[in-house]
Amino acid sequence: MRLDKFLSEAGIGSRSQVKTYIRKGLVSINQEKVCQPELKINIENDVVQYNGSVVEYTQFEYFMLNKPQNVVSATKDNVFETVVGLIRERKRDDLFPVGRLDKDTEGLLIITNDGELSHNMLSPRKHVNKTYYAKISGLISNQDQEMFEKGLDIGDDKPTLPAKLTILKSDTLSEIELTIQEGRFHQVKRMFEAVGKKVLFLKRIEMGGLKLDEKLMPGEYRCLTKDEIDLLR
Ligand code: URA
Repeated sequence: MRLDKFLSEAGIGSRSQVKTYIRKGLVSINQEKVCQPELKINIENDVVQYNGSVVEYTQFEYFMLNKPQNVVSATKDNVFETVVGLIRERKRDDLFPVGRLDKDTEGLLIITNDGELSHNMLSPRKHVNKTYYAKISGLISNQDQEMFEKGLDIGDDKPTLPAKLTILKSDTLSEIELTIQEGRFHQVKRMFEAVGKKVLFLKRIEMGGLKLDEKLMPGEYRCLTKDEIDLLR
């Protein structure tokens, strides 16, 4: 990796700032002062120092966030707080959410800078399962379950893929769990609309076999463990 890229990704400064630092002689590789920003370094073995201190470099970061309501699934927003802004203890400044949850949806969201992992989880061909808990207005019937299983016309060019609807409570205010294999825009809300019902509360509780840690309150997050990262690859 180029020395200037390494230093800016390690948070030392912008690409142009770190070029200036290198040219001023503030950077050394393996104890030797260097002046060329384009020098290549080996991130595993080379020891880079800036202003006399060793530069710590983290290639990838992975967080599990329990997304609260009223926060948008974006990296930047002019009006609302963003899910990436909630991650305070971070080393990288290129984090992004793996997919999106609506502003009023809570629950499991992975925040990372690993583009390959994100692509694998979101690729429509991979059919990664996502499970949601929801509160729905009105009774939920076995017929609804069958329709979700068969696939619903939600106004797109194709019906939805088979989805598993589990009824936890059927009443004027019903509670369900729903597992879908796709990630279409407002998919869960539109599936319930297609059977004449309204989602009143929505929370994602599982994605790709990874369950939301029940200890995380809305707005809280933690690092993923190595086993959890492997599960998602
Ligand atoms: N389906 C929705 O309708 N909203 C979400 O946020 C996620 C899935």
